[in-house]
Amino acid sequence: MNEKNIFIVRAGEAALKGENKPYFERMLVERIKKLLKRFDGVEVTRKEGLIFVHADKSIPPEDIIKWVSKAFGVQTISPAVEVESDIEAIGRAAVEYMNGIIAERDIKTFKVKAKRADKQFPVESPDIARQVGAMILKGCKVLKVDVHDPDCYLYVNVRKGISYIYQDKIEGFGGLPLGTNGKGLVLLSGGIDSPVAAFMMAKRGMAIETIHFHSYPYTSERAREKVEDLASQLAVYCSRFKMHIVNLLPIQEEIVRHCPEEETTIHVRMFMMRIAEKIAEKNGCTMLVTGESLGQVASQTAEALVVTNSAVSMPVMRPLIALDKTEIIAIAQEIETFETSIEPYEDCCTVFLPKHPLTKPKTERILKSESTLDIDDLVEKAVDSEEIVDIFPKK
Ligand code: ATP
Ligand code: MG
Repeated sequence: MNEKNIFIVRAGEAALKGENKPYFERMLVERIKKLLKRFDGVEVTRKEGLIFVHADKSIPPEDIIKWVSKAFGVQTISPAVEVESDIEAIGRAAVEYMNGIIAERDIKTFKVKAKRADKQFPVESPDIARQVGAMILKGCKVLKVDVHDPDCYLYVNVRKGISYIYQDKIEGFGGLPLGTNGKGLVLLSGGIDSPVAAFMMAKRGMAIETIHFHSYPYTSERAREKVEDLASQLAVYCSRFKMHIVNLLPIQEEIVRHCPEEETTIHVRMFMMRIAEKIAEKNGCTMLVTGESLGQVASQTAEALVVTNSAVSMPVMRPLIALDKTEIIAIAQEIETFETSIEPYEDCCTVFLPKHPLTKPKTERILKSESTLDIDDLVEKAVDSEEIVDIFPKK
């Protein structure tokens, strides 16, 4: 029965979605299948509220766990053993399983937790735990039961026909399956914050596209490669996506020529929003996403955010708004974007950076300064000049 490695995958919130539950679970299965496509000999199935992965023994189990846990919507994963749903057979398999654990780890105590999903099974859950526990005590002489603080829990999940034995529940990211919550356009810089913002929205099921602004030749080819590198790390979680690339330099030069120096950054931010909104509309994205965090820099004060927002009518999601930099960095490290983000390449925001940026801009004053610019024309030209790059998940 056991020529394959078996993994039980539990959906998090997707499992709570009432009538939409089959849809969310189907999307999750599709996503897991896609992530496991890199291996031959893997089967993903859904049965009675759980997802099962059967994988050839030649594939290291840690590789399966690594990739399954990258699917948003996965709460936990357990490598498991399959056994016929018969109390004697379960007991024998449990003894063999525990002997395997003893050989690898120094454990002295255990506790069996049993769940009877098949209500027709003749033994009730507490009795399953008791009987299997007794068989383990007989078959693994070094072990004792500790119901309060055991070195190891052994889970027994009795289902119709086939039951499962496992010990670990490895945590995934949780969230909702990718693509179950619309599509957003993420303003992706080369910094630490915006990849984390993209990750957080995608974790709630939002499919993403990204837009990156550069100021070539003030910003280098290498700076752009860095952003593509970051994007491909994001694609590990967010699947393949489009990156729109726009040179902002002509607009920045207009701003510098016509607007007061201390306002430069806020004007640049507003143009980024306007261009992003147009490109979002053209590509079926209904929201913009940024990595802004309240008060982090001059352009992210409460006043500055109000002004920036006034440039667009599309909703702007700012998932990092209430996070501290240390909290953002912790996520960036977890999702492995941090090391690339801190590579020291120039960003278009640092070109023409004012010495004393306004921290409390007023919309009225900013719009007045902009009235000397042909905003629609500048935005249209920028949109028309976009380049599109297909971003694939990093290997
Ligand atoms: P990050 O770490 O994301 O670069 P930051 O602290 O440097 O953030 P800003 O430069 O003020 O902040 O940018 C705020 C947000 O504006 C970014 O999180 C990102 O969403 C967007 N943004 C900034 N620069 C760019 C860019 N060159 N291309 C696309 N989006 C950008
Ligand atoms: Mg930045």
